Amino acid sequence: MSLDYVRNPFVGIRRLTREVRIGDVGLGGANPIRVQSMTTTDTMDTSATVDQVEELADAGCEIVRVTAPSIRDAGNLRAIKAELRKRRVHVPLVADIHFTPNAALIASECVEKVRINPGNYADKKKFEVREYSDEQYRAELERVAERFRPLVRRCREGGVAMRIGTNHGSLSDRIMNRYGDTPAGMVESALEFLDVCEEEGFRDVVFSMKSSNAQVAIQAYRLLAARLEERAGGAPSYPFHLGVTEAGDGEDGRVKSAIGIGSLLEDGIGDTVRVSLTEDPVREVPVATALARRTEARWAEDAECATAPLELDAPFVPDPYAHERRATKTLSLGGLDVGGAEPVRVEIDLGAIPADPAGAAARLGTSLGLVSEVSCEGLLFAATDASAIQRLPALGTALSRVGVELPVAVRVPAAAVPDCVPGCDRAEGVARLVVEVDVETVPEALRNAASAAAEAGVPLEWCLRASPDEIPGLVDSALAAGVSAAFSVESPRANHAARALAARLRAVGADAVPVVLRHRRNADAGDDRALLDAAIDLGAPLCDGIGDAVSLAGFADPGRAVDLAYRILQGARLRTTRTEYISCPSCGRTLFDLEETTARIKERTEHLKGVKIAVMGCIVNGPGEMADADFGYVGSGPAQVNLYVGKEVVARAVPEAEAADRLVELIRDRNRWLE
Ligand code: SF4
Repeated sequence: MSLDYVRNPFVGIRRLTREVRIGDVGLGGANPIRVQSMTTTDTMDTSATVDQVEELADAGCEIVRVTAPSIRDAGNLRAIKAELRKRRVHVPLVADIHFTPNAALIASECVEKVRINPGNYADKKKFEVREYSDEQYRAELERVAERFRPLVRRCREGGVAMRIGTNHGSLSDRIMNRYGDTPAGMVESALEFLDVCEEEGFRDVVFSMKSSNAQVAIQAYRLLAARLEERAGGAPSYPFHLGVTEAGDGEDGRVKSAIGIGSLLEDGIGDTVRVSLTEDPVREVPVATALARRTEARWAEDAECATAPLELDAPFVPDPYAHERRATKTLSLGGLDVGGAEPVRVEIDLGAIPADPAGAAARLGTSLGLVSEVSCEGLLFAATDASAIQRLPALGTALSRVGVELPVAVRVPAAAVPDCVPGCDRAEGVARLVVEVDVETVPEALRNAASAAAEAGVPLEWCLRASPDEIPGLVDSALAAGVSAAFSVESPRANHAARALAARLRAVGADAVPVVLRHRRNADAGDDRALLDAAIDLGAPLCDGIGDAVSLAGFADPGRAVDLAYRILQGARLRTTRTEYISCPSCGRTLFDLEETTARIKERTEHLKGVKIAVMGCIVNGPGEMADADFGYVGSGPAQVNLYVGKEVVARAVPEAEAADRLVELIRDRNRWLE
């Protein structure tokens, strides 16, 4: 499988892109990753829109998008621009266009960039099922090209950039019938429009491939990067705008965005970022900025490795354009089954075995009790000598007393194994021995650890604490030492290290060995940044199909770490433990207060584990964009809502005051309600 989407999957090297100018702001090339957002005001309300653009610019937003749903709205962009100039706000504006080519032409006269959606620029979505012959398909393409060409010419002549922004949920019927709602269909949809741009000699183009499903977004961006690379043949290609659409709000919205956007940035893909949250758009800016700055720091550091990148004999996943979990064997690790078809497990690493087991157990019991809706599945403690390990039975008793009955694993540096071996042999209840290995570890220590674990009858996990390029050698040394139940990596480059581990295990025929993904919270990071880091470190490999368990360390509140782990698993679509909300960020088309409505619906439905509920601001894009939601609540007119089951509208023009009750009734009628 071609890995043309990435320059090296084990190092963060930026994709080669050409610079596209958005007014005074350069995008792509050597420019910083640009932060952008979108207004939520009515575009006809000049003063409210200008105020919000100004607020966004003050918050650090470098490009602002404004919806232009009609010719009138598009015309009003000129007044908005003039008022912004008066206030000396020079942030470039992007007109967001769906369905209205004429509005695009008008908008292109006064903004720096136009965003079009290839799924609906010249097509109305009718959900029609139809077979296209090649000739009919070509005729359709020609019709679309004729509609699109005038805008391309206008942009080329006016120095206006364009984003070809494909959304998973709004592919045209033509694409759906030929490709389905697949990443391949998304890519094809965008390339059809690029063909017209290139025919017209217009290259100020930026792409996006958004989906509310982080996995789909990752696959589509990768596939597009690979296809563009083929076309560019090594020359700089078009820049990418990254986003996960309808990500929702709060921590879940941030986690889902970080997984999708962060995974791509780890691969060097992405030149501008918009984090879509169902919140005040100003709150999107710090999240996007944190993702951008984290990535730039890594790209700068990794540039040094670019001269001697790690090369491995086997790919890290069978297919980077589709999710397929590594096929591993199932192991019982102290009563807990891990790997195989088991769900990805959640473990908390609590540091040194406590000197005061009773006090530590009581604190842990309280903390885990606060997140009783999700269950921690394993505990990990650290030991460096036999005396620490000898406290384990007392700890086990204390944990039992507070109702915490979980497998307890112990991590020991390989060099300390000789000290710990007698203790380990005697210790009761060690579910697994996690042996820390680094480049300093001598083969004898590895052999001692392997035989100690075997003698004690305790499963052994090799925990490789190393940079990605050190991983292959450590895998070989650990395997040479004998027995191994599982592997894990603990690295500041968690994603690249996990890939290096998976690739090496595959290369040496040990592909069935389960892998534990470890994340250690950076002590200097604030809570917001810690959440993003964990989501990327764990979510990126999970989306690649790597990882049978996740283990979080360094969190002062273990319950909080467990809660975050489950949010990450749900954001990566690997384990569903709560209601999934797909809510749009709102824009000038929105027909109700999305933040307030989403909060109200959440309050009534957040106990419905596994049910997907979409809350969408408008009927124009909402039904298409709500993806695979089970139920939809979509604004259909002022104070009116349409309710959906899947893609089917089942109640129209429901008064907003009754709509939440009707939604609950609908969920009950479909037997998805729980008391
Ligand atoms: S679905 Fe939401 S964000 Fe999308 S166009 Fe409609 S109101 Fe705007």
